[in-house]
Amino acid sequence: PLQSSIIPLSSSKIDSFETQQQISGKPIFNPHDINTNLLQKLVYDALVWSSLHGLVVGDRTVQKSGTVPGVGIIHAPFALLPVSFPEDYFRQACELAPIFNELFDRVSLDAKFLQDSLSRTGKVDTFTSRLLDIHSKMIDINKKEEIRLGLHRSDYMLDAQTKSLLQIEFNTISSSFSGLTCLVSELHRNLIDLYGSQLQLDSRKVPENPSVHQFAKALAEAWREYNNPRAVALVVVQAEERNMYDQHWLSAVLREKHGVTSIRKTLAEIEAEGEILHDGTLVVDGEAVAVVYFRAGYAPTDYPSELEWRARLLIEQSSAVKCPSIAYHLAGTKKIQQELAKPNVLERFLDDKEDIAKLRKCFAGLWSLDDTEVITDAIEKPELYVMKPQREGGGYNTYGDEVREALLRIQKGGSQEDAAYILMQRIFPTVFPSLLVREGICHKDHAISELGIYGAYLRNKEKIIMNEQCGYLMRTKVSSSDEGGVAAGFAVLDSLYLS
Ligand code: ADP
Ligand code: MG
Ligand code: MG
Repeated sequence: PLQSSIIPLSSSKIDSFETQQQISGKPIFNPHDINTNLLQKLVYDALVWSSLHGLVVGDRTVQKSGTVPGVGIIHAPFALLPVSFPEDYFRQACELAPIFNELFDRVSLDAKFLQDSLSRTGKVDTFTSRLLDIHSKMIDINKKEEIRLGLHRSDYMLDAQTKSLLQIEFNTISSSFSGLTCLVSELHRNLIDLYGSQLQLDSRKVPENPSVHQFAKALAEAWREYNNPRAVALVVVQAEERNMYDQHWLSAVLREKHGVTSIRKTLAEIEAEGEILHDGTLVVDGEAVAVVYFRAGYAPTDYPSELEWRARLLIEQSSAVKCPSIAYHLAGTKKIQQELAKPNVLERFLDDKEDIAKLRKCFAGLWSLDDTEVITDAIEKPELYVMKPQREGGGYNTYGDEVREALLRIQKGGSQEDAAYILMQRIFPTVFPSLLVREGICHKDHAISELGIYGAYLRNKEKIIMNEQCGYLMRTKVSSSDEGGVAAGFAVLDSLYLS
């Protein structure tokens, strides 16, 4: 078991870490080496900086913090100092972004591939089946998305044993934290500038992180392509959202830098206030919509009734640019990730052999549950696998002994339930000592990190308008936790220090 200790701001004692062998790489600092006085100053300054610069989320203990902006604000959970990350792996991850962008665009156009790959899953997973229904309807009416916008995030971990960068997943819907993560990089640079000589760190080694500007630029370009100067961007939101400031940052940059107005609506509101004009224009609350940006709609709980499904269908039928379209949404499911990892599947979508090799290099082992050999192995050694359903947002995966139990149960049941899941090789990143700040308190713990690389893709018919890497998200979580989401409460926001 790993020891975790809390450092109250007033404490003069810092517990030392259990000595732990580093598997690869060196942490840039050892919390044990930072004296208490300096640590307290760092934490205090970081908390002030976050509050003054909008590195904030809604405070779960305040009732209206998820609905009324400005009420119940608390700093976002963050790591006090950036995590050391080898420069070549960072470059490798950045280089993959435009290739993945292109891949997912092509996959989204292959309706048969999406339908065939997901049909068994749809039989046992109602949510997937509802998404497939909308997709089928679009096939039936021969709906074409000429302007296609993807705001993606590809997540990776550095596997300590093989020393390779392996993809965790590719998100095509609601890729979050582009608004807050660039602030964490700034916070870290700021702290290093203030205390760099004592910490012996150089702020130039924290890479630039233009995430919010790049995503805003992509949204603005999509809005321009749609070519209706009076139209707005529609942000589809959950009724309660404590991560609203991350979203407001994006809307603010969109408005201030690009002159594009956004409106925020829930799916239920869109159902009540939305209509499609004869020319296909989506009008919501009297406003023509150029771009629909989904920050809701990725989870079954976002569709508590038929109203919400009607809204999703309405949006899909309209001429507005959807980020994502139903096809992009389906392409980002875990089942498709697993299908893409099968031999000769990437070749169906990409021509460049080098690009294919680069993508394949970052694929971890991925299997469907009808692979009996792997199932036998996973029952024997469940700690080497992760079992995943078709869900987004963190907290749904199965690990360790529960993998074995689930597999045995599914085997015995003889049902089609296996089609709801995929199996994935478990990745074991290097464990390093970290200082995690939550609710004003600094916790010292052993941690692991997950690197997300944002990517934006925009095309209008044959013209590719944007295909870029758009900054990064580093999330750090205590190594004893299996799941990784910041919003789900498992991880903190971090940045990286190139080594
Ligand atoms: P979600 O779409 O819910 O974010 P993920 O596939 O990203 O689903 O899984 C959630 C978290 O589980 C990740 O952030 C990561 O911390 C952990 N995780 C997922 N896959 C693996 C894996 N193969 N090895 C180790 N940890 C994993
Ligand atoms: Mg995801
Ligand atoms: Mg994830």
